[in-house]
Amino acid sequence: THTSHLPSSPITMMPTIKFTNLFINGHFVHSVSGRTFETIDPRTEEVITRVSEGNKEDIDIAVKAAREAFDSGPWPRMTGSERAKIMMKWADLIEENIEEIAALDTMDAGKLYYFNKVGEIPSAIDTLRYYAGAADKIHGEVLKMNRELYGYTLLEPIGVVGHIIPWNAPSLTFFIKVSPSLAAGCTMVLKPAEQTPLSALFYAHLAKLAGIPDGVLNVVPGFGPTAGAAISAHMDIDTVSFTGSIQVGREVMQAAATSNLKPISLELGGKSPLIIFDDVDIDKAVQLALFGILFNKGEVCVASSRVLVQEGIYDEFEKKLVEKAKCWIVGDPFDPKSQQGPQADKKQLENVLSYIEQGKREGATLLTGGNRVGNKGYYVEPTIFSNVKEDMVIAQEEIFGPVVVLMKFRTMEEAIKSGNNTKYGLAAGIMTQNLDIANTVSRSIRAGIVWINCYFTAGSDVPFGGYKMSGFGRDMGMVALHKYLQLKSVITPIHNSPW
Ligand code: ADP
Repeated sequence: THTSHLPSSPITMMPTIKFTNLFINGHFVHSVSGRTFETIDPRTEEVITRVSEGNKEDIDIAVKAAREAFDSGPWPRMTGSERAKIMMKWADLIEENIEEIAALDTMDAGKLYYFNKVGEIPSAIDTLRYYAGAADKIHGEVLKMNRELYGYTLLEPIGVVGHIIPWNAPSLTFFIKVSPSLAAGCTMVLKPAEQTPLSALFYAHLAKLAGIPDGVLNVVPGFGPTAGAAISAHMDIDTVSFTGSIQVGREVMQAAATSNLKPISLELGGKSPLIIFDDVDIDKAVQLALFGILFNKGEVCVASSRVLVQEGIYDEFEKKLVEKAKCWIVGDPFDPKSQQGPQADKKQLENVLSYIEQGKREGATLLTGGNRVGNKGYYVEPTIFSNVKEDMVIAQEEIFGPVVVLMKFRTMEEAIKSGNNTKYGLAAGIMTQNLDIANTVSRSIRAGIVWINCYFTAGSDVPFGGYKMSGFGRDMGMVALHKYLQLKSVITPIHNSPW
Protein backbone atom coordinates (compact mmCIF):
# COMPACT_ATOMS: atom_id res chain seq x y z
CA THR A 1 0.00 0.00 0.00
CA HIS A 2 1.03 3.58 -0.49
CA THR A 3 2.87 5.40 2.19
CA SER A 4 1.24 8.72 2.75
CA HIS A 5 2.31 11.76 4.66
CA LEU A 6 -0.76 13.92 4.86
CA PRO A 7 -0.20 16.85 5.39
CA SER A 8 3.10 17.43 7.08
CA SER A 9 4.59 20.40 5.32
CA PRO A 10 7.33 22.30 7.12
CA ILE A 11 5.57 25.59 7.84
CA THR A 12 8.75 27.60 7.23
CA MET A 13 8.33 27.10 3.50
CA MET A 14 4.89 28.66 3.40
CA PRO A 15 5.07 32.06 1.74
CA THR A 16 2.67 34.84 2.56
CA ILE A 17 0.59 35.60 -0.49
CA LYS A 18 1.51 39.04 -1.77
CA PHE A 19 -0.29 39.43 -5.07
CA THR A 20 -3.97 38.68 -5.56
CA ASN A 21 -5.17 41.45 -7.86
CA LEU A 22 -5.26 41.75 -11.63
CA PHE A 23 -2.07 43.13 -13.17
CA ILE A 24 -3.10 45.66 -15.82
CA ASN A 25 -1.03 48.45 -17.36
CA GLY A 26 1.74 48.00 -14.82
CA HIS A 27 -0.44 48.06 -11.70
CA PHE A 28 -2.23 45.63 -9.46
CA VAL A 29 -5.92 46.54 -9.60
CA HIS A 30 -9.24 45.17 -8.39
CA SER A 31 -11.60 43.75 -10.96
CA VAL A 32 -14.30 46.11 -12.23
CA SER A 33 -17.00 43.97 -10.62
CA GLY A 34 -15.08 43.79 -7.35
CA ARG A 35 -15.60 40.04 -7.38
CA THR A 36 -13.03 37.58 -6.17
CA PHE A 37 -12.66 33.80 -6.31
CA GLU A 38 -11.03 31.24 -4.05
CA THR A 39 -7.88 29.41 -4.93
CA ILE A 40 -7.75 26.09 -3.13
CA ASP A 41 -4.80 24.13 -1.74
CA PRO A 42 -5.21 20.60 -3.14
CA ARG A 43 -3.26 19.16 -0.20
CA THR A 44 -5.75 20.35 2.38
CA GLU A 45 -8.83 21.38 0.36
CA GLU A 46 -8.62 24.69 2.20
CA VAL A 47 -8.73 28.18 0.72
CA ILE A 48 -5.25 29.65 0.21
CA THR A 49 -6.53 33.11 -0.60
CA ARG A 50 -9.06 34.98 -2.71
CA VAL A 51 -8.01 36.41 -6.04
CA SER A 52 -9.62 39.20 -8.08
CA GLU A 53 -11.87 37.72 -10.71
CA GLY A 54 -11.26 39.14 -14.16
CA ASN A 55 -14.24 39.32 -16.47
CA LYS A 56 -14.97 40.61 -19.96
CA GLU A 57 -14.74 44.27 -18.91
CA ASP A 58 -11.35 43.66 -17.25
CA ILE A 59 -10.09 41.91 -20.38
CA ASP A 60 -11.25 44.93 -22.39
CA ILE A 61 -9.25 47.28 -20.16
CA ALA A 62 -6.20 45.03 -20.34
CA VAL A 63 -6.43 44.79 -24.14
CA LYS A 64 -6.72 48.58 -24.38
CA ALA A 65 -3.52 48.93 -22.33
CA ALA A 66 -1.76 46.32 -24.45
CA ARG A 67 -2.95 47.99 -27.67
CA GLU A 68 -1.66 51.36 -26.55
CA ALA A 69 1.64 49.86 -25.47
CA PHE A 70 1.90 48.26 -28.88
CA ASP A 71 0.80 51.22 -30.99
CA SER A 72 2.74 53.95 -29.23
CA GLY A 73 4.80 52.42 -26.40
CA PRO A 74 8.52 51.75 -26.37
CA TRP A 75 8.52 47.92 -26.37
CA PRO A 76 8.00 47.18 -30.09
CA ARG A 77 10.27 50.08 -31.00
CA MET A 78 13.23 49.00 -28.89
CA THR A 79 16.10 47.18 -30.51
CA GLY A 80 16.13 43.45 -29.91
CA SER A 81 19.10 43.80 -27.62
CA GLU A 82 17.32 46.39 -25.49
CA ARG A 83 14.41 43.99 -25.04
CA ALA A 84 16.85 41.18 -24.34
CA LYS A 85 18.52 43.11 -21.55
CA ILE A 86 15.22 43.60 -19.72
CA MET A 87 14.19 39.98 -20.24
CA MET A 88 17.54 38.81 -18.85
CA LYS A 89 17.05 41.01 -15.79
CA TRP A 90 13.59 39.51 -15.28
CA ALA A 91 15.15 36.04 -15.44
CA ASP A 92 17.68 37.00 -12.75
CA LEU A 93 14.93 38.32 -10.48
CA ILE A 94 12.97 35.09 -10.84
CA GLU A 95 16.07 33.12 -9.93
CA GLU A 96 16.48 35.22 -6.79
CA ASN A 97 12.89 34.46 -5.77
CA ILE A 98 12.76 30.85 -6.87
CA GLU A 99 11.95 29.28 -3.49
CA GLU A 100 8.98 31.50 -2.88
CA ILE A 101 7.59 30.93 -6.37
CA ALA A 102 8.18 27.17 -6.12
CA ALA A 103 6.13 27.15 -2.93
CA LEU A 104 3.30 29.07 -4.61
CA ASP A 105 3.06 26.46 -7.37
CA THR A 106 3.12 23.66 -4.81
CA MET A 107 0.28 25.21 -2.82
CA ASP A 108 -1.75 26.04 -5.89
CA ALA A 109 -1.23 22.92 -8.01
CA GLY A 110 0.03 20.22 -5.64
CA LYS A 111 3.30 19.94 -7.53
CA LEU A 112 6.42 18.62 -5.81
CA TYR A 113 8.21 21.56 -4.22
CA TYR A 114 11.63 20.11 -4.91
CA PHE A 115 10.84 19.57 -8.57
CA ASN A 116 9.51 23.11 -8.96
CA LYS A 117 12.73 24.43 -7.52
CA VAL A 118 15.23 22.36 -9.46
CA GLY A 119 13.20 21.41 -12.52
CA GLU A 120 10.24 23.38 -13.74
CA ILE A 121 11.10 26.92 -12.70
CA PRO A 122 14.74 26.64 -13.84
CA SER A 123 13.37 25.43 -17.21
CA ALA A 124 11.02 28.41 -17.27
CA ILE A 125 13.93 30.77 -16.59
CA ASP A 126 15.97 29.02 -19.25
CA THR A 127 13.14 29.55 -21.74
CA LEU A 128 13.03 33.26 -20.91
CA ARG A 129 16.79 33.55 -21.43
CA TYR A 130 16.66 31.54 -24.64
CA TYR A 131 14.15 33.96 -26.18
CA ALA A 132 15.99 36.97 -24.74
CA GLY A 133 18.94 35.68 -26.74
CA ALA A 134 16.73 35.40 -29.81
CA ALA A 135 15.31 38.93 -29.59
CA ASP A 136 18.12 40.49 -31.67
CA LYS A 137 18.23 37.65 -34.19
CA ILE A 138 14.83 38.14 -35.77
CA HIS A 139 15.20 39.22 -39.37
CA GLY A 140 13.83 38.68 -42.84
CA GLU A 141 15.49 37.84 -46.15
CA VAL A 142 16.67 39.74 -49.17
CA LEU A 143 14.78 38.71 -52.32
CA LYS A 144 16.75 38.91 -55.51
CA MET A 145 13.79 39.30 -57.90
CA ASN A 146 15.11 40.64 -61.26
CA ARG A 147 17.45 43.22 -62.72
CA GLU A 148 15.29 46.27 -61.98
CA LEU A 149 13.71 45.31 -58.71
CA TYR A 150 14.69 43.89 -55.43
CA GLY A 151 12.72 43.07 -52.34
CA TYR A 152 13.09 42.04 -48.78
CA THR A 153 10.93 40.53 -46.10
CA LEU A 154 10.34 42.10 -42.73
CA LEU A 155 9.31 40.13 -39.66
CA GLU A 156 7.08 42.43 -37.66
CA PRO A 157 5.51 41.72 -34.29
CA ILE A 158 1.94 40.53 -34.79
CA GLY A 159 0.53 42.95 -32.21
CA VAL A 160 -1.52 42.19 -29.10
CA VAL A 161 -1.35 38.55 -28.08
CA GLY A 162 -3.83 36.63 -25.92
CA HIS A 163 -2.37 33.74 -23.93
CA ILE A 164 -4.69 31.23 -22.24
CA ILE A 165 -2.83 28.66 -20.15
CA PRO A 166 -3.64 25.63 -17.97
CA TRP A 167 -2.71 24.73 -14.40
CA ASN A 168 -0.51 21.63 -14.67
CA ALA A 169 2.74 23.50 -15.31
CA PRO A 170 1.88 27.08 -14.36
CA SER A 171 5.43 28.42 -14.44
CA LEU A 172 6.79 26.69 -17.51
CA THR A 173 3.68 27.32 -19.60
CA PHE A 174 3.70 30.98 -18.61
CA PHE A 175 7.22 31.42 -19.99
CA ILE A 176 6.72 29.15 -23.00
CA LYS A 177 4.04 31.61 -24.10
CA VAL A 178 5.25 34.96 -22.81
CA SER A 179 8.96 34.75 -23.70
CA PRO A 180 8.81 34.39 -27.51
CA SER A 181 6.01 36.94 -27.80
CA LEU A 182 8.04 39.45 -25.78
CA ALA A 183 11.15 38.78 -27.86
CA ALA A 184 9.10 39.40 -31.01
CA GLY A 185 8.09 42.83 -29.68
CA CYS A 186 4.45 42.03 -28.97
CA THR A 187 2.31 43.15 -26.05
CA MET A 188 -0.05 40.73 -24.35
CA VAL A 189 -2.86 39.72 -22.05
CA LEU A 190 -2.41 36.41 -20.24
CA LYS A 191 -5.10 34.53 -18.40
CA PRO A 192 -3.68 31.94 -16.01
CA ALA A 193 -5.86 28.97 -15.11
CA GLU A 194 -8.32 29.67 -12.30
CA GLN A 195 -6.67 26.88 -10.26
CA THR A 196 -3.19 28.45 -10.38
CA PRO A 197 -3.13 32.26 -10.56
CA LEU A 198 -0.52 32.92 -7.85
CA SER A 199 2.85 32.41 -9.56
CA ALA A 200 1.68 34.29 -12.67
CA LEU A 201 0.93 37.38 -10.55
CA PHE A 202 4.32 37.09 -8.86
CA TYR A 203 5.97 36.96 -12.29
CA ALA A 204 4.06 40.10 -13.30
CA HIS A 205 5.40 41.91 -10.24
CA LEU A 206 8.97 40.91 -11.13
CA ALA A 207 8.43 41.94 -14.76
CA LYS A 208 7.70 45.46 -13.61
CA LEU A 209 10.83 45.49 -11.43
CA ALA A 210 12.89 44.29 -14.38
CA GLY A 211 11.70 47.22 -16.48
CA ILE A 212 9.09 45.70 -18.76
CA PRO A 213 7.08 48.81 -19.70
CA ASP A 214 3.52 49.23 -18.44
CA GLY A 215 0.88 47.65 -20.65
CA VAL A 216 3.25 45.16 -22.30
CA LEU A 217 2.40 42.24 -20.02
CA ASN A 218 -1.07 42.13 -18.47
CA VAL A 219 -2.10 39.20 -16.27
CA VAL A 220 -5.82 38.74 -15.70
CA PRO A 221 -6.89 35.76 -13.57
CA GLY A 222 -10.46 34.61 -14.07
CA PHE A 223 -12.59 31.77 -15.38
CA GLY A 224 -12.61 30.24 -18.85
CA PRO A 225 -16.14 30.91 -20.08
CA THR A 226 -15.90 34.57 -19.01
CA ALA A 227 -12.34 35.97 -19.06
CA GLY A 228 -10.98 33.23 -21.36
CA ALA A 229 -13.82 33.54 -23.85
CA ALA A 230 -13.42 37.33 -23.85
CA ILE A 231 -9.83 36.86 -25.01
CA SER A 232 -10.60 34.43 -27.83
CA ALA A 233 -13.53 36.55 -29.09
CA HIS A 234 -11.78 39.91 -28.77
CA MET A 235 -11.77 42.07 -31.89
CA ASP A 236 -8.53 43.79 -30.91
CA ILE A 237 -6.39 40.76 -30.05
CA ASP A 238 -4.26 39.72 -33.01
CA THR A 239 -3.49 36.12 -32.10
CA VAL A 240 -4.29 33.63 -29.36
CA SER A 241 -1.97 30.96 -28.07
CA PHE A 242 -3.90 28.35 -26.11
CA THR A 243 -2.90 25.28 -24.13
CA GLY A 244 -5.65 23.12 -22.63
CA SER A 245 -8.33 20.60 -23.53
CA ILE A 246 -9.69 19.67 -26.97
CA GLN A 247 -13.13 20.87 -26.01
CA VAL A 248 -11.98 24.34 -25.02
CA GLY A 249 -9.58 24.44 -27.99
CA ARG A 250 -12.60 24.06 -30.27
CA GLU A 251 -14.34 26.94 -28.51
CA VAL A 252 -11.28 29.16 -28.83
CA MET A 253 -11.06 28.35 -32.54
CA GLN A 254 -14.75 29.02 -33.06
CA ALA A 255 -14.56 32.35 -31.23
CA ALA A 256 -11.48 33.34 -33.24
CA ALA A 257 -13.32 32.50 -36.47
CA THR A 258 -16.50 34.36 -35.65
CA SER A 259 -14.73 37.47 -34.31
CA ASN A 260 -11.77 38.93 -36.20
CA LEU A 261 -10.39 35.73 -37.80
CA LYS A 262 -7.29 35.93 -35.64
CA PRO A 263 -4.80 33.12 -36.24
CA ILE A 264 -4.44 30.87 -33.23
CA SER A 265 -2.29 28.01 -32.03
CA LEU A 266 -3.57 25.13 -29.94
CA GLU A 267 -1.73 22.64 -27.73
CA LEU A 268 -4.33 20.12 -26.64
CA GLY A 269 -3.11 17.13 -24.74
CA GLY A 270 -2.45 13.56 -25.73
CA LYS A 271 -2.65 9.85 -25.12
CA SER A 272 0.97 9.11 -25.79
CA PRO A 273 2.28 5.58 -26.35
CA LEU A 274 5.52 4.31 -24.85
CA ILE A 275 6.49 1.33 -27.02
CA ILE A 276 8.87 -1.12 -25.37
CA PHE A 277 10.56 -3.81 -27.47
CA ASP A 278 11.76 -7.04 -25.94
CA ASP A 279 15.51 -6.34 -26.42
CA VAL A 280 15.63 -3.76 -23.63
CA ASP A 281 16.80 -3.85 -20.03
CA ILE A 282 13.51 -4.57 -18.27
CA ASP A 283 14.38 -2.69 -15.08
CA LYS A 284 15.23 0.44 -17.03
CA ALA A 285 12.04 0.13 -19.04
CA VAL A 286 9.98 -0.23 -15.87
CA GLN A 287 11.66 2.86 -14.43
CA LEU A 288 10.97 4.91 -17.55
CA ALA A 289 7.36 3.75 -17.85
CA LEU A 290 6.66 4.55 -14.22
CA PHE A 291 8.23 7.96 -14.49
CA GLY A 292 6.39 8.57 -17.77
CA ILE A 293 2.99 8.17 -16.17
CA LEU A 294 3.51 9.19 -12.54
CA PHE A 295 5.62 12.29 -13.01
CA ASN A 296 3.58 15.31 -11.85
CA LYS A 297 0.81 12.82 -10.84
CA GLY A 298 0.05 12.17 -14.49
CA GLU A 299 -0.99 15.77 -15.06
CA VAL A 300 1.28 16.09 -18.06
CA CYS A 301 0.03 16.44 -21.62
CA VAL A 302 2.82 14.15 -22.88
CA ALA A 303 2.43 11.52 -20.12
CA SER A 304 3.11 7.98 -21.38
CA SER A 305 -0.42 6.89 -20.58
CA ARG A 306 -0.39 3.89 -22.94
CA VAL A 307 2.46 1.46 -22.42
CA LEU A 308 2.83 -1.07 -25.23
CA VAL A 309 5.11 -3.98 -24.35
CA GLN A 310 6.37 -6.72 -26.65
CA GLU A 311 5.20 -10.20 -25.71
CA GLY A 312 8.66 -11.68 -24.94
CA ILE A 313 9.10 -9.50 -21.86
CA TYR A 314 5.49 -8.61 -21.14
CA ASP A 315 4.89 -10.83 -18.09
CA GLU A 316 8.10 -9.89 -16.30
CA PHE A 317 7.61 -6.21 -17.15
CA GLU A 318 4.07 -6.21 -15.79
CA LYS A 319 5.12 -7.89 -12.56
CA LYS A 320 7.97 -5.47 -11.93
CA LEU A 321 5.95 -2.41 -12.86
CA VAL A 322 3.25 -3.32 -10.35
CA GLU A 323 5.84 -3.97 -7.61
CA LYS A 324 7.46 -0.59 -8.19
CA ALA A 325 4.13 1.27 -8.40
CA LYS A 326 3.17 -0.15 -5.01
CA CYS A 327 6.27 1.42 -3.45
CA TRP A 328 5.67 4.83 -4.99
CA ILE A 329 5.30 7.45 -2.26
CA VAL A 330 2.15 9.52 -2.47
CA GLY A 331 2.13 12.41 -0.03
CA ASP A 332 2.52 16.05 0.78
CA PRO A 333 4.39 17.68 -2.12
CA PHE A 334 6.42 19.80 0.32
CA ASP A 335 7.84 16.61 1.87
CA PRO A 336 11.11 15.76 0.11
CA LYS A 337 10.29 12.04 0.42
CA SER A 338 7.09 12.34 -1.59
CA GLN A 339 7.13 11.23 -5.20
CA GLN A 340 3.59 12.27 -6.01
CA GLY A 341 1.40 15.06 -4.66
CA PRO A 342 -2.35 15.55 -4.93
CA GLN A 343 -4.24 16.09 -8.19
CA ALA A 344 -4.62 19.81 -8.84
CA ASP A 345 -8.25 20.18 -7.89
CA LYS A 346 -11.45 18.41 -6.93
CA LYS A 347 -12.69 18.20 -10.49
CA GLN A 348 -9.49 16.43 -11.55
CA LEU A 349 -9.75 14.00 -8.64
CA GLU A 350 -13.31 13.18 -9.61
CA ASN A 351 -12.43 12.82 -13.30
CA VAL A 352 -9.57 10.46 -12.59
CA LEU A 353 -11.63 8.30 -10.23
CA SER A 354 -14.48 8.13 -12.71
CA TYR A 355 -12.14 6.99 -15.51
CA ILE A 356 -10.88 4.28 -13.16
CA GLU A 357 -14.47 3.13 -12.55
CA GLN A 358 -15.10 3.17 -16.27
CA GLY A 359 -12.02 1.01 -16.85
CA LYS A 360 -13.29 -1.54 -14.37
CA ARG A 361 -16.76 -1.51 -15.93
CA GLU A 362 -15.31 -1.99 -19.40
CA GLY A 363 -13.61 -5.16 -18.20
CA ALA A 364 -9.97 -4.13 -17.95
CA THR A 365 -7.98 -5.75 -15.13
CA LEU A 366 -7.03 -3.41 -12.29
CA LEU A 367 -3.54 -4.58 -11.27
CA THR A 368 -2.89 -2.02 -8.56
CA GLY A 369 -4.23 1.28 -7.24
CA GLY A 370 -7.64 2.57 -8.19
CA ASN A 371 -8.42 4.48 -5.02
CA ARG A 372 -8.14 7.85 -3.45
CA VAL A 373 -5.40 8.07 -0.80
CA GLY A 374 -6.74 9.31 2.54
CA ASN A 375 -9.84 11.46 2.75
CA LYS A 376 -8.30 14.88 2.83
CA GLY A 377 -6.53 16.31 -0.20
CA TYR A 378 -6.89 15.11 -3.77
CA TYR A 379 -4.42 12.21 -3.65
CA VAL A 380 -4.80 9.19 -5.94
CA GLU A 381 -2.97 5.84 -5.90
CA PRO A 382 -0.76 5.00 -8.87
CA THR A 383 -3.08 2.87 -10.96
CA ILE A 384 -2.29 0.22 -13.57
CA PHE A 385 -4.73 -1.55 -15.87
CA SER A 386 -3.97 -4.61 -18.01
CA ASN A 387 -6.10 -6.57 -20.47
CA VAL A 388 -6.99 -3.29 -22.07
CA LYS A 389 -8.62 -3.29 -25.50
CA GLU A 390 -7.75 -0.49 -27.86
CA ASP A 391 -11.29 0.82 -28.15
CA MET A 392 -11.85 1.10 -24.41
CA VAL A 393 -12.37 4.63 -23.11
CA ILE A 394 -9.35 4.31 -20.79
CA ALA A 395 -7.21 3.52 -23.85
CA GLN A 396 -8.54 6.44 -25.88
CA GLU A 397 -9.28 9.39 -23.61
CA GLU A 398 -6.74 11.54 -21.83
CA ILE A 399 -7.18 10.76 -18.12
CA PHE A 400 -4.62 13.32 -16.90
CA GLY A 401 -3.89 11.37 -13.74
CA PRO A 402 -1.65 8.57 -12.42
CA VAL A 403 -3.43 5.91 -14.48
CA VAL A 404 -1.68 3.81 -17.10
CA VAL A 405 -2.98 1.16 -19.47
CA LEU A 406 -0.76 -1.76 -20.44
CA MET A 407 -1.06 -3.49 -23.80
CA LYS A 408 0.84 -6.39 -25.32
CA PHE A 409 2.08 -6.53 -28.93
CA ARG A 410 3.85 -9.09 -31.10
CA THR A 411 5.37 -7.31 -34.10
CA MET A 412 6.70 -3.84 -34.83
CA GLU A 413 3.91 -3.31 -37.37
CA GLU A 414 1.34 -4.10 -34.73
CA ALA A 415 2.99 -1.65 -32.32
CA ILE A 416 2.96 1.15 -34.90
CA LYS A 417 -0.68 0.55 -35.70
CA SER A 418 -1.67 0.47 -32.08
CA GLY A 419 0.56 3.43 -31.19
CA ASN A 420 -1.22 5.53 -33.81
CA ASN A 421 -4.68 4.33 -32.85
CA THR A 422 -5.76 7.52 -31.08
CA LYS A 423 -7.16 10.88 -32.07
CA TYR A 424 -4.18 12.50 -30.37
CA GLY A 425 -0.63 12.94 -31.69
CA LEU A 426 1.42 14.82 -29.14
CA ALA A 427 4.28 12.50 -28.12
CA ALA A 428 5.58 8.95 -28.20
CA GLY A 429 8.40 6.95 -26.66
CA ILE A 430 10.31 4.00 -28.06
CA MET A 431 12.62 1.69 -26.16
CA THR A 432 14.85 -0.65 -28.14
CA GLN A 433 18.52 -1.29 -28.87
CA ASN A 434 17.72 -1.96 -32.51
CA LEU A 435 18.49 1.09 -34.65
CA ASP A 436 16.33 -0.05 -37.56
CA ILE A 437 13.33 -0.45 -35.31
CA ALA A 438 13.97 2.91 -33.63
CA ASN A 439 14.26 4.65 -36.99
CA THR A 440 11.21 2.99 -38.51
CA VAL A 441 8.93 3.50 -35.53
CA SER A 442 9.98 7.11 -34.91
CA ARG A 443 9.10 7.98 -38.51
CA SER A 444 5.85 6.01 -38.49
CA ILE A 445 4.33 7.48 -35.36
CA ARG A 446 2.25 10.55 -36.02
CA ALA A 447 3.26 12.70 -33.08
CA GLY A 448 5.01 16.03 -32.57
CA ILE A 449 7.84 14.61 -30.46
CA VAL A 450 9.34 11.13 -30.27
CA TRP A 451 11.70 10.03 -27.52
CA ILE A 452 14.04 7.10 -28.15
CA ASN A 453 15.31 5.42 -24.97
CA CYS A 454 14.34 8.41 -22.87
CA TYR A 455 11.17 10.31 -22.01
CA PHE A 456 10.14 13.90 -21.22
CA THR A 457 13.58 15.21 -22.15
CA ALA A 458 13.16 18.64 -23.71
CA GLY A 459 14.73 22.04 -23.84
CA SER A 460 14.04 25.61 -24.85
CA ASP A 461 15.33 24.88 -28.37
CA VAL A 462 13.11 21.82 -28.92
CA PRO A 463 9.90 22.61 -30.83
CA PHE A 464 6.86 21.22 -29.11
CA GLY A 465 3.31 20.67 -30.34
CA GLY A 466 0.84 18.24 -31.77
CA TYR A 467 -0.23 16.24 -34.77
CA LYS A 468 -3.89 15.38 -35.32
CA MET A 469 -6.26 16.52 -32.56
CA SER A 470 -3.40 17.41 -30.23
CA GLY A 471 -3.52 20.77 -31.97
CA PHE A 472 -1.37 22.85 -34.29
CA GLY A 473 1.43 25.37 -34.06
CA ARG A 474 4.64 24.86 -32.14
CA ASP A 475 5.88 26.24 -28.85
CA MET A 476 9.59 26.44 -27.98
CA GLY A 477 12.50 26.65 -30.37
CA MET A 478 13.09 29.44 -32.89
CA VAL A 479 10.00 28.26 -34.77
CA ALA A 480 7.68 29.47 -31.97
CA LEU A 481 8.74 33.07 -32.60
CA HIS A 482 6.81 32.92 -35.86
CA LYS A 483 3.50 32.56 -34.04
CA TYR A 484 4.05 36.11 -32.88
CA LEU A 485 5.45 37.61 -36.09
CA GLN A 486 3.94 38.84 -39.33
CA LEU A 487 5.83 38.59 -42.57
CA LYS A 488 5.76 41.60 -44.85
CA SER A 489 7.31 41.74 -48.32
CA VAL A 490 8.73 45.10 -49.42
CA ILE A 491 9.69 45.70 -53.06
CA THR A 492 11.51 48.62 -54.61
CA PRO A 493 13.25 49.43 -57.91
CA ILE A 494 17.04 49.37 -57.80
CA HIS A 495 17.44 52.44 -60.04
CA ASN A 496 15.30 54.29 -62.55
CA SER A 497 13.37 51.37 -63.88
CA PRO A 498 10.24 51.60 -66.03
CA TRP A 499 8.16 50.70 -62.93
P1 ADP B 1 -8.36 21.61 -18.24
O1 ADP B 1 -9.51 20.72 -18.63
O2 ADP B 1 -7.05 20.98 -18.30
O3 ADP B 1 -8.62 22.46 -17.03
P2 ADP B 1 -9.19 23.64 -19.97
O4 ADP B 1 -9.06 23.52 -21.43
O5 ADP B 1 -10.53 23.52 -19.34
O6 ADP B 1 -8.20 22.59 -19.41
O7 ADP B 1 -8.55 24.98 -19.44
C1 ADP B 1 -7.37 25.54 -19.93
C2 ADP B 1 -7.49 27.05 -19.89
O8 ADP B 1 -8.58 27.43 -20.72
C3 ADP B 1 -7.79 27.62 -18.51
O9 ADP B 1 -7.11 28.84 -18.35
C4 ADP B 1 -9.29 27.85 -18.58
O10 ADP B 1 -9.76 28.85 -17.70
C5 ADP B 1 -9.46 28.29 -20.01
N1 ADP B 1 -10.82 28.13 -20.56
C6 ADP B 1 -11.80 27.29 -20.15
N2 ADP B 1 -12.92 27.47 -20.87
C7 ADP B 1 -12.65 28.43 -21.77
C8 ADP B 1 -13.41 29.07 -22.82
N3 ADP B 1 -14.65 28.73 -23.08
N4 ADP B 1 -12.78 30.01 -23.57
C9 ADP B 1 -11.49 30.35 -23.34
N5 ADP B 1 -10.75 29.81 -22.36
C10 ADP B 1 -11.30 28.86 -21.58
